[in-house]
Amino acid sequence: MNELDQIQDWLTEVVDISRVFASQGEVAAYIPELLKAPHDTLGICIISPDGQTISAGDVDFELTLQSISKVFTLILALMDLGEAHVFSKVGKEPTGDDFNSMLKLELVEPGIPFNPLINAGAIVISALIQGQSPQHKSERILNFFRLISGNATLEVDEEVFMSEAAHAHRNRSLAYFLKDNGVLTDQDDVEEILEIYFRHCSIKVTCSDMARMALVLANEGVDPASGESLIPRRYVQIAKTFMITCGMYNASGEFAIGVGLPAKSGVSGGILTLVPGKYGIGIVGPALNSKGNSVAGVHLIELLSRRQKWSMF
Ligand code: GLN
Repeated sequence: MNELDQIQDWLTEVVDISRVFASQGEVAAYIPELLKAPHDTLGICIISPDGQTISAGDVDFELTLQSISKVFTLILALMDLGEAHVFSKVGKEPTGDDFNSMLKLELVEPGIPFNPLINAGAIVISALIQGQSPQHKSERILNFFRLISGNATLEVDEEVFMSEAAHAHRNRSLAYFLKDNGVLTDQDDVEEILEIYFRHCSIKVTCSDMARMALVLANEGVDPASGESLIPRRYVQIAKTFMITCGMYNASGEFAIGVGLPAKSGVSGGILTLVPGKYGIGIVGPALNSKGNSVAGVHLIELLSRRQKWSMF
């Protein structure tokens, strides 16, 4: 019996134990459409490079990637423009503040966002994606996500997209502030950039799509099924480092101590994480803790990581 066979035997039990913690959290309300998600949903999928897949709980539940998408738009921007260009526009440091905070934008010269995984940084990254038109840029992002997930049917959830776009006062403030301080340039149309950003946040997935996306990162950018390199190794390294330092927002330190794996969460309740060299993992659990991370999902991955001794540290 290999490790995944062993985990499969008690995975349903661990999901049931962790699901109870959902009652301590709240589904995100600031994007009204997200409120439709059932509070106590919890599901997990784990995939190894040889294609072995185990799962438990609400495996068919679909949610939008939200902030998880930021990891892959960062990678696409790096592939489009290279490190020097991208890191002249966003920093490499965690903030310790909420993901949509404006606090540090003005404090640090020359006013660039601290990192590409907070909203301000991810909006700047959206402006760096290459393409002939905003539609073409959004198409390139969607096609890249389809390639990484191996799922050619991934789509934008139009309801969630419209819901966010209609209630995005804070993200609009961030973007206009970035335009005012020159991080977004005169050529950057704020509303067009926000549309690209909201669209990639609204790409709809299941936990198995996320597990497959994570597996490519776990496998140094190579699609284990085809052996094809989809992402240069250096950019996988950069993405995983940001996932450790900033991936769980201002709970990244706590998560690194409790779980010890590169991970990225989103306000819809997804967690994409990986065991380097071994597994891609996707978790869905819409009830969030006060830091915006899936309550039951964090509990679930912490139980797994502790028991299997997966921490990188
Ligand atoms: N689309 C969301 C927002 O901009 C993403 C944030 C998140 O998942 N934390 O607010």
